[in-house]
Amino acid sequence: MTNPFAGVRFLKGVSHLSQLPVEHGVEVAFAGRSNAGKSSAINKLTGSKSLARTSKTPGRTREINFFGLPDGNRLVDLPGYGYAKVSKRMKAQWGALLADYLRTRQSLVGVVVIMDCRHPLTELDCSLIEWCGEVGLPVHALFTKCDKLSRGKAAGILQSSRKRLTAMSELSTGQLFSAHNGTGLEQARQQILAWLSTPES
Ligand code: GDP
Repeated sequence: MTNPFAGVRFLKGVSHLSQLPVEHGVEVAFAGRSNAGKSSAINKLTGSKSLARTSKTPGRTREINFFGLPDGNRLVDLPGYGYAKVSKRMKAQWGALLADYLRTRQSLVGVVVIMDCRHPLTELDCSLIEWCGEVGLPVHALFTKCDKLSRGKAAGILQSSRKRLTAMSELSTGQLFSAHNGTGLEQARQQILAWLSTPES
């Protein structure tokens, strides 16, 4: 498959709900704990190194970063959660921005949740997934860094995690992924493309 996200461009970083770009087309968001491998996954999926660099720029890590695709649809990098060295107040502000975005964004058609396959479905991941299920937002989980595990071990984690996922939200699916060796790249792209072809409401 040729890269379906070629030509993706950074549009805007947002730290307050009032700054959200006007809704246009449909969008797919990426969420995950800090260090889970979200930036690497976005880079791999879009075939662009500069995108994640943008999100990692100091000052941008706590923002919602919007990327535009040539067809007008968008990919959205949500701030990583669970970063230990952040004050309670900051965590609360961050959480509120994330929750407000997820709750109010009409054009949002799905959330890709990135988790380190060696530590899948932590408490924060589960609250996000359950919450998405409650508001009817489909979730696709990427259990990433699977190159760090044997095939057998990774397959076992996928099987048990899928069970837990479905118990949390019927609208959830999951797969193994590796930004390092490309495992699961096509499957993940297909899921995102399927969401992006959702007709605009
Ligand atoms: P983020 O904070 O969620 O954006 O995480 P990063 O994408 O910056 O990745 C965190 C660390 O995990 C970095 O050292 C990456 O090189 C590493 N990493 C990310 N994805 C993979 C992967 O698929 N395989 C392996 N082995 N390491 C990965």
